[in-house]
Amino acid sequence: MATCEVCGNDYDGAFTIEKDGARHVFDSFECAIHALAPTCAHCGCRIIGHGHQAGGQMFCCAQCARHAGVEGVSDRAD
Ligand SMILES: [Zn+2]
Ligand SMILES: [Zn+2]
Repeated sequence: MATCEVCGNDYDGAFTIEKDGARHVFDSFECAIHALAPTCAHCGCRIIGHGHQAGGQMFCCAQCARHAGVEGVSDRAD
């Protein structure tokens, strides 16, 4: 049994994620995303895909990067 660090749920299916050398325990991906996923610098939504790093900021999509004035960002995932 492990306790989710976001919602406090005791759950035998909890899992750990190691990020930046720190271990985190979650009962669901929703809680993991809530705690760890970066937010888009333009619209503020959680980035759960690759995201776009541009101009030193993270964006959920190329559209948001362009709205924020970052040029030359495409939605290609490669
Ligand atoms: Zn939880
Ligand atoms: Zn966005």
